[in-house]
Amino acid sequence: MAAVGTWSFSQPAVDRLRSLITSGCHATDAVEEAMAGWLKMTQIKFHPSVEMENDPETGRHIVGRGGFPNSEGVLECDAAIMQGTAGKFGAVAALRGIGTPIRVARKVMDRSPHSLLVGDGAAIFAREQGFSIEPNDSMLSVHSTKAYEVTNLQEYLENRQKASGHDTLGLIALDKMGNITVGVSTSGAPFKSPGRVGDSPIPGSGLYAEHMVGAAAATGDGDRIMCYCPSFQIVQLMKQGSSPNEACCAVLKDIRRRTFPEKCFELGLIALNMKGEVGAASTVEFPYVFWDMENDSVEIRVQLPPSNKNE
Ligand code: ASP
Repeated sequence: MAAVGTWSFSQPAVDRLRSLITSGCHATDAVEEAMAGWLKMTQIKFHPSVEMENDPETGRHIVGRGGFPNSEGVLECDAAIMQGTAGKFGAVAALRGIGTPIRVARKVMDRSPHSLLVGDGAAIFAREQGFSIEPNDSMLSVHSTKAYEVTNLQEYLENRQKASGHDTLGLIALDKMGNITVGVSTSGAPFKSPGRVGDSPIPGSGLYAEHMVGAAAATGDGDRIMCYCPSFQIVQLMKQGSSPNEACCAVLKDIRRRTFPEKCFELGLIALNMKGEVGAASTVEFPYVFWDMENDSVEIRVQLPPSNKNE
């Protein structure tokens, strides 16, 4: 049993994963619950629920409700879930009006003949599944509305780069039965073009999982990340015998070589294998949160970027 989450703000979600997995929850249920809170799940009702995606405060980290809107002031979220078992993947992209997009992605995985639904189509599916679609105003927070109103967008983005703790919420869980599942959720690049889809809901780019091997997730500049399929590559390397850390470092090294190290984009990678071993690599200072059964502690680890001199 083990769990890992991107960025230090994922700590409450990793705490929640620890509690759910220890009490026998399936990795997929645990990831959904830790991201969104799944109130219908009666067998785990004794655990207090935390809301990550649906909490407007988490929106500061570019996740779910309260995230940054697109260039027209509308919040559009991407989310995906992949279970290691062959063919178990569901995703939504550019989804409007729902504060828990990972729950819609889960429904796509379990109840739709399709794997990825976008925009209005994703919202129609969600409504059919019983979700209510909220007006855009209720999806934004005071913080994200104010950010949108900042007239000098360039200046705003430069300042945001200096702030710590942002980007996709990515969670990987390995349960007692040996199921491994990865989930990701983001409101995507702030002030993006309407309809822009990032790496997060694209299998192999923002996330990937394979039963008996492991799983990986990515965070950072999704427009660039999706050109390299890093999550798929990491899982393939683990399949060939690399540790999660070796796999993350090898994929990062290859991308940096291809882009030239000094020009490489923002990219953070995490991975977990079936032994519960974790790995990470990043082009920026990248805190991630890890729980392992051996030490039974949820700890924040900080992955530093490689130095250009070594390449
Ligand atoms: N990768 C996400 C995207 O580009 C956002 C992020 O991780 O910052 O949509």
